Amino acid sequence: MAVSTDEKREVRVAESSYDIAKIRSDFPILQMERAGKPLVYLDNAATAQTPNAVIDALTRYYTCENANVHRGVHYLSQTATTRYEDARKKIANFFHAPVGCEIIFTRGATEAINLVASSYGEAHVGEGDEIIISHLEHHSNIVPWQILCERKGAKLRVIPINDAGEMILEEYEAMLSPRTKIVAVNHVSNALGTINPVETIIELAHAQGVPVLLDGAQAAPHMPVDLKALNCDFYAFSAHKVYGPTGIGCLYGNAKLLNAMPPYQSGGDMIMSVSFEKTTYNSLPYRFEAGTPNIADAIAFGAALDYLSAIGMAEIAAYEQELLAYGTEALQEVKGLELIGTAKHKAGVLSFVMEHAHPHDIGQLLDDENIAIRAGHHCAQPVMQRYGVPATARASLGMYNTREEIDAMVEALHKVNKVFA
Ligand SMILES: *Cc1c(COP(=O)(O)O)cnc(C)c1O
Repeated sequence: MAVSTDEKREVRVAESSYDIAKIRSDFPILQMERAGKPLVYLDNAATAQTPNAVIDALTRYYTCENANVHRGVHYLSQTATTRYEDARKKIANFFHAPVGCEIIFTRGATEAINLVASSYGEAHVGEGDEIIISHLEHHSNIVPWQILCERKGAKLRVIPINDAGEMILEEYEAMLSPRTKIVAVNHVSNALGTINPVETIIELAHAQGVPVLLDGAQAAPHMPVDLKALNCDFYAFSAHKVYGPTGIGCLYGNAKLLNAMPPYQSGGDMIMSVSFEKTTYNSLPYRFEAGTPNIADAIAFGAALDYLSAIGMAEIAAYEQELLAYGTEALQEVKGLELIGTAKHKAGVLSFVMEHAHPHDIGQLLDDENIAIRAGHHCAQPVMQRYGVPATARASLGMYNTREEIDAMVEALHKVNKVFA
């Protein structure tokens, strides 16, 4: 694509203030090559790569600090407990969690949503009640609610989206009623990148006394998230989407609501006292953390957030927005390519189909160039159904991607056309 010299200069200035070279050097996997080709990793919405700071935190924990938490009086157990609880505080600070709210460690966003669907659902949802989600949801914010509805005889209502991939708010407003028990929508769509108008969604629900859960798995890596300002009741996210390890995530929740919810899983750590006659439960957040938690990964999650804080989420967001604009324009140059998801407010996701090549063939050909994108339904089959496609090819951006990598992808897409068109 034609980029003027002035534009090129501008890019260099922007990149130098952000120090992209330093950031890239923090991620060992980005230095790997395959058959002489450097890795171009554009599958960050599936999982993001981990910087040395995270890898080192894991090594340090298993090398010098490994013990079970909340149990031992010995030095290692106390150290592990302190580190684990420090990680919880780091997460609360990073997301500006207000006082009186809780951070509960889970396996990820999926488990966090399941916890609320199961436990809040058990306490508050009955026959004829309604749960509102949207057409843009990840399967993990659809299926738990579907199962709850089946169990309770409740009804799932779905906010429709327009052709650009934006929720239709008038329809949402009309859906809210005294039967609505909870609204559960994503903050940012993983399939299309749409940044949803969650402030309005929360305001409208709260006006009717309805709590709101946000699936924040895709917002957390791309923008500053201020839970105090958002004022949602639950927020679910995963560490591996924010450059941390897999298998750990959080449920942020309003303590008043959490205290009125029955236990999700049971066993050690979530109890105060146990006898065969009666068991009493631990206080928050431990009441929802049954069994030995994922201590090492919780600590490494904290390290990932430290890493992001040092660079700044606003800086990362600005850098990625520029990259998204560049990528959106660059893809337009590819013959027969159609972008799916053209919302006004978007995070770094470029989902597309091509006239002559199936997404899986696109993914395969790009992989031959060591360019990693995702081809498929992105765990959001209803979104694909909405656009009448079985799948899309998706390039999703991270904090370490560059214009050169987008150029490499575009060049490979021209090759796809040569092979298939
Ligand atoms: C990745 C993702 C999830 C699921 O996260 P897990 O880590 O697999 O539990 C849910 N919602 C969105 C929007 C996601 O991107």
